Amino acid sequence: MKKYLLAPGPTPVPPEVLLSMAMPILHHRAPDFIPILDSAKKGLQWVCQTKNDVLILCSTGTGGMVASVNNFFNPGDKVITVNGGKFGERWTKICQAYGLTVEEIKVEWGYSIKPAAIEEALKKDPAIKGVMVQATETSTGVAHDIEGLGKVIKNFKDTIFIVDAISALVAHDIRTDEWGIDVLIGGSQKGLMLPPGLAFVGVSDKAWKMNETSKMPRFYFNLKKERENLAKNQTNFTSAVSLIVGLNEALKMLQAEGLENVFARHAKLAHATREAVKAIGCGIYSKDFPSNSVTAIEAPAGIDGQVIYKNLRVKYGITGAGGQDQAKGKIFRLAHLGYADTFDVITGIAAIEMVLKELGHPIKLGTGVGVAQELLMK
Ligand SMILES: *Cc1c(COP(=O)(O)O)cnc(C)c1O
Repeated sequence: MKKYLLAPGPTPVPPEVLLSMAMPILHHRAPDFIPILDSAKKGLQWVCQTKNDVLILCSTGTGGMVASVNNFFNPGDKVITVNGGKFGERWTKICQAYGLTVEEIKVEWGYSIKPAAIEEALKKDPAIKGVMVQATETSTGVAHDIEGLGKVIKNFKDTIFIVDAISALVAHDIRTDEWGIDVLIGGSQKGLMLPPGLAFVGVSDKAWKMNETSKMPRFYFNLKKERENLAKNQTNFTSAVSLIVGLNEALKMLQAEGLENVFARHAKLAHATREAVKAIGCGIYSKDFPSNSVTAIEAPAGIDGQVIYKNLRVKYGITGAGGQDQAKGKIFRLAHLGYADTFDVITGIAAIEMVLKELGHPIKLGTGVGVAQELLMK
């Protein structure tokens, strides 16, 4: 059976990138590797829309989240986490593990945080040192208003704005510097079209200032040391050399397409997916701003979302994602992230129609596919 990966991470890796990673291993301190890291460093600044250093860590995305908790604060410091799904919940858990005092602002699943709610919380407690949020909450398919939040948080001079953009980068226009993001986190296995194993952390001057007085325990994720090494085109420990070679290849593809076109492609694929599933009688779980990375699709009444997710994989070889916690059974998810185009959406929609028909949902095959085709031809 032919396999299709339509999950919100890991995502498919283009053949050009796979081949580049098959080259012989370079030594991470040897002269051959220096220009490779230099190019990756500059490419990351381009994709993250920042002049700040973007540090390259050898870990999954969560490592980048951990690094942004234990490099800027002191035990007991107060922070706000926005919890509108599984990844927001992860912010809370990491902060608690490192002894921060967490004010968790819960957002109903399927909704975005209102910047005014953060403004109110910061005005009420000026001692809050950081606000942590997801750019897109992958578990619910919701995008948060990063630009709006940045405008609010910018006015609080002792508070840094930390954004987990792991699933949003490349699919959403995230203007790190213009919007006042102090710590931006990315990961390799989502929009950047690479295997898992790299995390990226962009750090502003405001956050580096806090780093000077931060006394959290740290060893592996020491961003100051990473910054000193990056200035010499190195990393603190052994670089993930093959992944960084692949990163350059992926960045080259994105640069050839152009950032505006990359965003437009994701917006178009996401829009076509949403309209197609609506046409076949499914709802969209996101009630505010749907993510352009992944669509969380509500299963039709009487059909278990987990069964749809499972049948897509078992019968048709398509790996999407199910729902988690309170959304389990209610939704299933289809990504259109990274190395994704027209026929990924059409394949996904066609298979959803077949699975739903088999499960007894009244549907005329081709309905959603037709809607997607019309929109994708525009
Ligand atoms: C995938 C993802 C992560 C990181 O997960 P890892 O398994 O550590 O790579 C973090 N936040 C969001 C929003 C994600 O989608």
